[in-house]
Amino acid sequence: MVDQGILGWIFACLLGFVVFRSVLLKNKKKGGASVEIRDECVKSTANGECRSKTAYEEADVIIVGAGVAGAALANTLGKDGRRVRVIERDLTEPDRIVGELLQPGGYLKLIELGLQDCVEEIDAQRVFGYALFKDGKNTKLSYPLEKFDSDVSGRSFHNGRFIQRMREKAATLPNVQLEQGTVTSLLEEKGTIRGVNYKTKDGETMTAYAPLTIVCDGCFSNLRRSLCTPKVDVPSCFVGLLLEDCELPFANHGHVVLADPSPILFYRISSTEIRCLVDVPGQKVPSISNGEMAKYLKTVVAPQIPPELYDGFIAAINKGNIRTMPNRSMPAAPHPTPGALLMGDAFNMRHPLTGGGMTVALSDIVVLRDLLRPLHDLNDAATLCKYLESFYTLRKVSLKLVSLELLLP
Ligand SMILES: Cc1cc2nc3c(=O)[nH]c(=O)nc-3n(C[C@H](O)[C@H](O)[C@H](O)COP(=O)(O)OP(=O)(O)OC[C@H]3O[C@@H](n4cnc5c(N)ncnc54)[C@H](O)[C@@H]3O)c2cc1C
Repeated sequence: MVDQGILGWIFACLLGFVVFRSVLLKNKKKGGASVEIRDECVKSTANGECRSKTAYEEADVIIVGAGVAGAALANTLGKDGRRVRVIERDLTEPDRIVGELLQPGGYLKLIELGLQDCVEEIDAQRVFGYALFKDGKNTKLSYPLEKFDSDVSGRSFHNGRFIQRMREKAATLPNVQLEQGTVTSLLEEKGTIRGVNYKTKDGETMTAYAPLTIVCDGCFSNLRRSLCTPKVDVPSCFVGLLLEDCELPFANHGHVVLADPSPILFYRISSTEIRCLVDVPGQKVPSISNGEMAKYLKTVVAPQIPPELYDGFIAAINKGNIRTMPNRSMPAAPHPTPGALLMGDAFNMRHPLTGGGMTVALSDIVVLRDLLRPLHDLNDAATLCKYLESFYTLRKVSLKLVSLELLLP
């Protein structure tokens, strides 16, 4: 398992590094903020179905889910003049242990998308590299940032604050509509996706139509099944703790402890909090409710962590806010489908040890934006279909280039 950790860590660093090389640098509120929700609808006469108002009917794109991928995509397509309708299950600020460290390559993508201000004013912390710990020894490795502007580095933050900033920014665009609702199925007619069926927050069943539906409903996606062949692997789980009032041995660095049986991560997510993620192999973790987890963390994990973090680690366990999340990986295996596209974790996932999920999602959004730019009318179904197919090809080519670069010194 330690080997897996080393591989994961190396991949994380290389991913960040590679995206610097493969990308040409072109170059409001903290937490709890609410997003304006516009959820009016017009009832149609037939079978109680709710049809949307004109602005909605005229949407060019429906985006399902406003997490990292959906919120960034809404901004991107909205800024390109598309009429975008976003349907998100829960518009309140997410509170999760995922997506808290954006690699520098992801930050470069944010710049390309004009979204770098979304990591401002959320107490995000800059990340300049990693510190590695094994058998009582440690070493520090820095990202190769010398050739970049001084603001370029990784960023770590509360995932929910970052997402909320992107949602707020999208909501300021007049042609972007954010709506709270749960999409229950894709609306298919003769092999083409025409829109979605969804339930509003009041439980009303509605249908929304658009020539393009982009599914970004995350790692637990219920909708991906009709658009790809999901082969999801769950090699381990992450157990999350929040350490308060302690210092990392190496400021502004992610910390990877190559422990037995598998790695432990630490990184600051605000000026007062350090996230700890303990990788627990297998799909079943010790029970939190009967105290087995606390016992495991204190007896197996705690003796292996750097002494500077020990007291904070024990205090976090005693505080009792222990959270878990399955670590999933899923290769991209899309069925190119007219009128629809998958994006983000719904499309593909890699072990979170790589810290690359958000970077890949943002990178895909750049590919899609550039691809769709010349296509002014998304109602031209045949042309749109060709464009969508080439998205998968372009993306593959770009990933192959990244893999190739990984092998180069
Ligand atoms: C433990 C863990 C740690 C991770 N750490 C990192 C990290 O440090 N760095 C990194 O880059 N990546 C990390 N990742 C991966 C990263 O979190 C994901 O790649 C990223 O969040 C994917 O964004 P997304 O928009 O696809 O999904 P999400 O951000 O999960 O968004 C999905 C959205 O869809 C909404 N939704 C779901 N179903 C529906 C529905 N039916 N109708 C309407 N809305 C719906 C959800 O409410 C949610 O808002 C981690 C993953 C895990 C599991």
